[in-house]
Amino acid sequence: MGRYTGPACRLCRRSGEKLFLKGDRCFTPRCSFEKRRNPPGNISRRRRRPSDYGVHLLEKQKAKYIYGVMESQFRKYMDEAFNTPGVTGMNLLRSLERRLDNVIYLMGFADSRKQARQFVLHGHFQVNGRKTDIPSYSVRAGDCVTWRESDKTTEFFSDRTVGLPKRPVPAWLALDISEMAGRVVSLPSDEDLQTTLDSRLIVEFYSR
Ligand code: SF4
Repeated sequence: MGRYTGPACRLCRRSGEKLFLKGDRCFTPRCSFEKRRNPPGNISRRRRRPSDYGVHLLEKQKAKYIYGVMESQFRKYMDEAFNTPGVTGMNLLRSLERRLDNVIYLMGFADSRKQARQFVLHGHFQVNGRKTDIPSYSVRAGDCVTWRESDKTTEFFSDRTVGLPKRPVPAWLALDISEMAGRVVSLPSDEDLQTTLDSRLIVEFYSR
C-alpha cells in the first residue's frame, strides 16, 4: 500500500484526537478537528465502542500517522524493537524519535514532520557535513544537523529563521539559532519519550 496523500485532518478525525500534523494551523481555531470531531465518511455520527482489537489497531495507526511511516517500515522498527534489549515499547518510540525528519521538526526548522520530510528529500540538510536526503536516517549521539550552505543566502532560508525556537526543544537535542544548526546531545531517554502514544498497546498489537 502506498503513502497516504489525502487530507491530514481526516486522520485526526479518524483517530478521535488532534495529532498535530499541519504545523501552526493545528494551534488555531482553523483546526478542522475543533470544528468537526466525528469520524470522516458516511458512517453513523455516534462512535461505537471500539473492540479490543480496534483500540490496539488505532494506537498503531496513530503512531504511523504522526511519524509519517508506512506499514512495512513500521514493521521493521517493530522487529528492531523486539530484538533490542530493554523495554520494547520504549525501543520503538526511540527509533521513531531518532528519524532525521522528526529531529528537524523538533529543532523547529520545519513546521510539521511532513514538511521536514520534504525538506530532507529535497536535500536541504547535512548531517556531520554530508548531504543526507533520507528522512528515515537514524541520528546518533553527537550528530550535527545543518542546513545546506547554498540555502543560507536564499529568502526561503531567512523565512525559516523567523521566530525560532517555535516550540520547546527537547533536552536530548541542542539548537544553535545563530548558526541555524542542531546537535544530538544524547539519544532520547525514557522521560523524553513520554508522548501521547501508548506504546504498550502497539507492542501488544504486534505480539498477537
Ligand atoms: Fe489535526 Fe487540527 Fe492539525 Fe488538522 S489542523 S492536522 S485536524 S490538529
